[in-house]
Amino acid sequence: MNGRCAVLNASISRLEKRSLSSYEIAAIGHELRHAVEVLSDPDVVDHSSLYYFYKRNRERAGMAAAFETQAATDAGEAIANEVRQFQRTPAKK
Ligand SMILES: [Zn+2]
Repeated sequence: MNGRCAVLNASISRLEKRSLSSYEIAAIGHELRHAVEVLSDPDVVDHSSLYYFYKRNRERAGMAAAFETQAATDAGEAIANEVRQFQRTPAKK
């Protein structure tokens, strides 16, 4: 973390008693990737620098969404694929 100390405290509360879908699990991973990329950039120190962090990443990756990065998109897709693969794998007896 480039000499900085950062703490990420995340909690997930479930309002419904059901399993999370692969989409929901992927969305959580996607957002956690955003947290890691922001906490890893020493230039992000406030809301303004956070805005410009995403603006730079959007322009670099050619992303259409204002606050999106290729890394978070890739992380979400990789997690969704892994969850779907796990769900298709028969349980060992
Ligand atoms: Zn995102």
